[in-house]
This record gives sequence, structure tokens and C-alpha cells, in this order.
Amino acid sequence: MPKSLKHVLFIFLDGIGLGADDPAVNPFAAAAMPLLDDLAGGRWLRGRQPGGSVQASFVPTDPRMGIAGRPQSATGQAAILTGRNVPAEIGTHYGPRPNPDIRAILAEDNLFKQVVQRGGTAALINAYPPHFFEAVNRGKRLRSAIQQAVHEAGLSLFDDEALRQGEAMSPDWTGEGWRQELGYKDTPVFTPYEAGKHLAELARRRTFTFFSNWITDVLGHRGPFEQAVTMLEVFDGVMAGLLENWYDDGLIVVSSDHGNMEDLSTRKHTENDVPTLIIGPGHEAFAEGLVDLAGLAPRILQALYGTP
Ligand SMILES: [Zn+2]
Repeated sequence: MPKSLKHVLFIFLDGIGLGADDPAVNPFAAAAMPLLDDLAGGRWLRGRQPGGSVQASFVPTDPRMGIAGRPQSATGQAAILTGRNVPAEIGTHYGPRPNPDIRAILAEDNLFKQVVQRGGTAALINAYPPHFFEAVNRGKRLRSAIQQAVHEAGLSLFDDEALRQGEAMSPDWTGEGWRQELGYKDTPVFTPYEAGKHLAELARRRTFTFFSNWITDVLGHRGPFEQAVTMLEVFDGVMAGLLENWYDDGLIVVSSDHGNMEDLSTRKHTENDVPTLIIGPGHEAFAEGLVDLAGLAPRILQALYGTP
């Protein structure tokens, strides 16, 4: 892997796994995602072997990590961000929000902390509405494992004003959700391509940029199927805008914490592998030996600093 890339952009899609080639239950089997399929060297379905394209590597990645049961968000996200087998350490898959044991693991160390400690800059670039901050501050809502990792690194989350200023992004990429779900009239709305370009610009500003789409997991729990298909087609358009505006000193990693949206015949999480797509210089070396979620953090640090 080339040492000391300047930027890593992590695109996290909550609750996407590699499911059956069945367009009746799996949005990945129904959606038109030509760019994502090209990058991955095939479709995002169960049975895929590690592979990819000239530009990218694709690795089916194990979120079960030797622990029985359905993988969950808090342990999966904590594994991604710490490089530790968090389900094994606490003895179970746990979620959606982190319990005290998981919070203690995130407090010890995590990717955001590592980058800050090594002199870099890091952010979770999602924007959150005022009621989110009020609920967290009043103790009515626990932070997700990702948000907790950011908090433990001494970093702040972005608010609606940051979204208006173009410093943060909407989890649905386009910003339609802020208009339709939250009732905002003055927040930006992007086409998928523009959103991808914007993502590239934001990632250029810092060492480690984390973007989280949690809506995929919500769609996995309750559908509707058509919205899940649309979300994947939007993602394909986002990737076009992102890659056409990307730069050769940066790496993009797309991954997830557990399966869910790839099987809409059930509202529950699945035990499927999750996809990891790595795009950029050294993607083959990054993919080498990657088997489970705990392999991501050390490889990201290796890409940025030459040491895990
Ligand atoms: Zn999740």
C-alpha cells in the first residue's frame, strides 16, 4: 500500500449485506447500479468472491466475527472504528446503541482519536437537526457507536447551520429528507451527481472523513422496497460525481456493520457478509487479508500513516 495517502473517505451504509439474487426481496438484485457493479467487478450479491476492477477492490466481509446470532449496529460499528473484535470482547452482538462496555472500548481508542492524535483532522460529516442535540443533551437519547467515537475524540457533530453552509451532508446525500421529513425549506438539495462532487470536496478538507447513511438500515427494517431500490440508484449516481471529482492521494472505503436491507422478506438483520469496496491507490493491498470488520481500522491507519 502506498504510504501516507492524504485523505481517507469512509462511506458507511448501515445495514447492507450481500443477499440472494432475488429481485423480489433484494433491492441489490433489482436496482440499476452500473457504476457500483463495474467497480466491484460484479453484482453486490451473496456468493461473490473477493475481486474487483482496475480501480477498486471488493471484499465480502464477515460481520459475525465468530459470535452466534444476528450482528448488531453498536458492536459492528465499534469493530469498524476500533479494529477490535467487539462482539467477542463483550460476548454478544449488541445494538442499536452502545452499552457501557462498548462505550468504554470506544473511549480507549478509535479511528477518529487516532487521526487526531497523529496530528490529522477528522470528522463525521453528517448534519443533525436541533431535536437530535436536545435529546442527547437531555440524556433522552444515546449516541450511536459512530457518534460516540467522534465524541471521544473531542470532536463535535455538525448541525443544520453547517448543512446550509455546505460543511456537512444529509444522510440521504441529496438533502431531500431535510425538506420532506424534517420540513426545512432552506437547506440545500443536490442531484446525486452534485452530492458526490460535494462529498469529494468535503473529504479533501481533512485527513479522515466519515459519512454515514443510516437510512439504508431503516429501509431494511420497514421498507418500502421501492425506496430501497431508489436509494441504491441514488448511491450509484453519487459515486459517479464522487469519482469524477476525486484525487489520486485519497482512498475511498465503502462498508457496513451488518446485513439488513438486502433481504426485505424479513424486518430483522441478517447474518450475511457485508460488502467492502475500496477505491484508490493501494486498494489491492488494502483488500489483501481483509476478512472481517476488525480489519478495516488498521488498514485505514496503514493507508494514512504507513503503520497500523
Ligand atoms: Zn446498523
